[in-house]
Amino acid sequence: MSKYIFVMGGVMSGVGKGIAAASIGKILTSKGFKVTALKIDPYLNVDAGTMNPVEHGEVFVTEDGDETDQDIGNYERFLDTNIYRDNYMTSGRVYQAVINRERNLEYGGKCVEAVPHIPYEVIDRINRAMEKVEAEIAIIEIGGTVGEFQNVLYLEAARMLKFKNPGDVAFVMVSYLPVPGNLGEMKTKPTQMAVRAINEVGIQPDFLLCRSTHEVDAPRREKLALFCNVQPENVVSAPDVKSVYDIPVNFEKENLGNKILKVLGLEPRQQDLVEWRAFIDKVNSVTVPVKIGIVGKYFESGDFILSDAYISVIESLKYAAWHNDRKPEIEWINSDIYEKDPEQLSELNNYDCLVVPGGFGSRGIEGKIKAIQFARENKIPYLGLCYGMQLATIEFARHVCGLADAHTTEINPHTLNPVIHIIPEQAVKLANNQYGNTMRLGAYPCILKEGSLARDLYQSTEISERHRHRYEFNLAYKQKMEEHGLVFSGLSPDGQLTEIIELPKDQHPFFIGVQFHPEMKSRPLRPHPLFFGLVKAGIDAVKSL
Ligand code: GLN
Repeated sequence: MSKYIFVMGGVMSGVGKGIAAASIGKILTSKGFKVTALKIDPYLNVDAGTMNPVEHGEVFVTEDGDETDQDIGNYERFLDTNIYRDNYMTSGRVYQAVINRERNLEYGGKCVEAVPHIPYEVIDRINRAMEKVEAEIAIIEIGGTVGEFQNVLYLEAARMLKFKNPGDVAFVMVSYLPVPGNLGEMKTKPTQMAVRAINEVGIQPDFLLCRSTHEVDAPRREKLALFCNVQPENVVSAPDVKSVYDIPVNFEKENLGNKILKVLGLEPRQQDLVEWRAFIDKVNSVTVPVKIGIVGKYFESGDFILSDAYISVIESLKYAAWHNDRKPEIEWINSDIYEKDPEQLSELNNYDCLVVPGGFGSRGIEGKIKAIQFARENKIPYLGLCYGMQLATIEFARHVCGLADAHTTEINPHTLNPVIHIIPEQAVKLANNQYGNTMRLGAYPCILKEGSLARDLYQSTEISERHRHRYEFNLAYKQKMEEHGLVFSGLSPDGQLTEIIELPKDQHPFFIGVQFHPEMKSRPLRPHPLFFGLVKAGIDAVKSL
């Protein structure tokens, strides 16, 4: 069985298409179906790895090393499943595949055209992704907004699929209904126009998910149904919510899951969302706060503060807080401020725990190093992720081992103490300008040291975590750092790559740096042990005061 649900956006971007797609996936999974989710991004970049996180948000990394849009992370978290390379499409990737095939004479001398060959390639990829995980239902989110030039070929693929398999395809349009302040009334016209735009490419939505600040009331529901040609019961209200994890439950209040199954000719197989509802109850009932600081730099965009660049870190911290029965209060701290005014460092005492997430380049790193030093010296629980681990080793080398100019060669190629240096294969790639999808990426195994904090947290000797980096700890400094008390608690199986460093358990309540990205594997119902442990250490530290 192969069923397809296309999720498309109308009116404007950023209204939560990805979360809507993920929520539908969650609902259908919980009704007993094997579901996978795909994202199509219409830009020409082959993947998200080369894009600036301030503009495009976090680069999510899959088990098999793909660098994707953050929506793939949403799908993994909501569906509690791994998503692989075939589930992520960009125009760059799809066109490249078609052109490569043409160069290999695989089209048998035919004229290769945007239509139908690009849509065919898209349909093949959807089916391949489904086969890989034996999915019965695929949810395919088409990026961008209907009416744009860029996503027309993907809509054409969706139309063709429906034409060939009329009973197996459902169309869901996520639209935005503004309530302009000066009118105080919800306006439906932009959505009507968006539906008309999608009708022009031969698609009639089966469902309208109405994103807005308010619920859709009865008169507007009737109006939308009539003018958009959608049954009134399939016009679904999707007002703003406190937490995105409420959304599957909210959709189910309108019985969306069974309605979609009906369009696809299916019946639910089991009762839905049992565990999820219990989780939501917890989320909505915790009241005691835990204050977590993220010291980073990818926050500011013009006059706006965006947190999308760190979405997986933020969500992982929330799960850790909730499962510790605490209400997460997460604040982003721009590390630049500590460079300009080190006096402000003392404000870090206000946090129960601190995270320095991944990053690249020089801006803000001296501020991050100062924050890490403060966390180490003042015994504030600290978790360093990737760059946050590398900078923790640099801080330790500088201030504990006395190597004042210790640095990463990413920033200072001429330092006399390159505590962090480039992985040899990476140097070759950079020398040849091979930047796209060439970092050390995806899942790698790591062996944990007996008796270490990491070993206690994971409750296992071998783990696997996802990576995205070009630089690594320089083993020439290992002995010196160990003599000064740093613990190398996680190494690659051949011992050549440092994956985890920590301070001894009797010297600091929780100080860990990891070369990988545990945030990519944390799930709502299964918080990651490192994040869980960090938040717990923060709570315990307050209790022991
Ligand atoms: N810039 C560092 C490296 O490439 C860290 C990367 C990261 O934090 N993802 O190794």
